[in-house]
Amino acid sequence: MSRARPKVLIIGGGFGGLFCARRLGKVDVDVTVLDRAACHVFQPLLYQCATGTLSIGQISRSLREELADYHNVQTLLGEAVRLDADARTLTARRPDDSQYTLDYDYLVIAAGMRQSYFGHEEYAAWAPGMKTLDDALSIRRRLFGAFEIAETLPPGPERDSWLTFAVTGAGPTGVELAGQIRELATRALANEFHAIEPEEARVLLFDGGDRVLKTFAPALAHQAGRTLEELGVEMHFGVHVTDVRRDGITVSPKGGGPDEEYATRTVLWTAGVEAVPFARHAAEMLDATTDRSGRITVNEDLSVPGHPDVFVVGDLAGREGLPGVAENAMQGGWHVAACIRRDLATRGRRKYRYRDLGSAAYISRGHALLQAGPVKLTGRLGWLGWGFIHIAFLTGVQNRVSTVATWMASIARANRTDRTFILGGSGHPEEPYTWESPVHQGNHAAKDDQKA
Ligand SMILES: Cc1cc2nc3c(=O)[nH]c(=O)nc-3n(C[C@H](O)[C@H](O)[C@H](O)COP(=O)(O)OP(=O)(O)OC[C@H]3O[C@@H](n4cnc5c(N)ncnc54)[C@H](O)[C@@H]3O)c2cc1C
Repeated sequence: MSRARPKVLIIGGGFGGLFCARRLGKVDVDVTVLDRAACHVFQPLLYQCATGTLSIGQISRSLREELADYHNVQTLLGEAVRLDADARTLTARRPDDSQYTLDYDYLVIAAGMRQSYFGHEEYAAWAPGMKTLDDALSIRRRLFGAFEIAETLPPGPERDSWLTFAVTGAGPTGVELAGQIRELATRALANEFHAIEPEEARVLLFDGGDRVLKTFAPALAHQAGRTLEELGVEMHFGVHVTDVRRDGITVSPKGGGPDEEYATRTVLWTAGVEAVPFARHAAEMLDATTDRSGRITVNEDLSVPGHPDVFVVGDLAGREGLPGVAENAMQGGWHVAACIRRDLATRGRRKYRYRDLGSAAYISRGHALLQAGPVKLTGRLGWLGWGFIHIAFLTGVQNRVSTVATWMASIARANRTDRTFILGGSGHPEEPYTWESPVHQGNHAAKDDQKA
């Protein structure tokens, strides 16, 4: 150890990083939490933000505020971009593209995963994923914008394509989104439009498997499928989405057969995840192996082989039996903090043992699944359990109170109070897809020129 008071650098203030930092608060170490977004996001409720129930403020909290009581913990805004494992330094990029360097005695990589388009990054322009607050706001703009645009069009195929919503991936996020769009169309928006009937909105859910929610017990998943059907979600299994365009998608059966085309102006992508780019760089610098999605192989104590001073926690930790869920990230963060404390006390480290405390998925109002060991709940009981768990883990008392109040109001009145969406943005080509700026049109023209 190079100094009397060790420096712990945590990359990422998600579930893994935050729980590690909290456990090291008031320990005799200096902790720095580096995050490219400077806030902790409660990802399990992102879809409620995207569909207008909750605000981004209710599902996130500034890391600075969250960790203010721990005087040995500093939070910094910056994206980790370069690691020098021999010198034990990390280079971070500020949003203005300038850089700074941090040194460490312990490094905790908790940078999570991002959406994977399976090598088709071009889909991202038309099909946002669901991992960040930006994604949630982008989806909100597309959803509510689609109904608004449809209202201005005469009946016909163009209007229909604005009222058709395609969701890829029938895991918890895809199921939650699909259910929420139908619920939005049939409840909150049902009586607000003059030209269109929002209830007629089609929601198409595509998945390569043979049922929704593969990680849940078949009986629960079957129940969820029935509830979605009753809501009016059209489910297509055993298929892959093989093209995403501005005005539609192509769907190919896995077992062969003719492709199908769907005209839609809103595609939401929840089909897969992969490691964030920094994780791949870190694995290379640490000479560590990774799996196909870029998760870094770790020892039993979550350290990287050959680097006892570097740990990986959360979604990025690659080890048999560790799922990509919040509970694994939280427990991993606590475990790594315990390892560091044991090192300081010159006691041996313990192995990390993940305890599966169960999982839950929201299907629709009054319906959720809850699976914890032998306990399997559906319907209203599952819904209550789901609500209780989510409130318990949301950061900040104020967020918890206001979220419960918002839920009560939306149950009573079927309304959604956070529907505001903003047009315009950074000018990036993946930004608003409808009101194209000359820059975007220029980009399309350039691409068309290349094709020609
Ligand atoms: C839509 C959605 C719904 C989910 N629902 C559930 C659920 O119901 N139950 C459940 O258990 N799990 C759920 N999950 C999974 C759960 O959210 C993750 O398992 C958990 O967030 C992983 O924690 P983590 O700390 O590994 O990463 P994250 O929570 O993803 O945090 C990573 C952090 O690292 C930061 N970061 C990334 N790259 C860099 C970089 N280069 N430099 C600096 N900072 C960086 C990010 O800004 C982020 O703050 C859901 C996930 C999503 C996306």
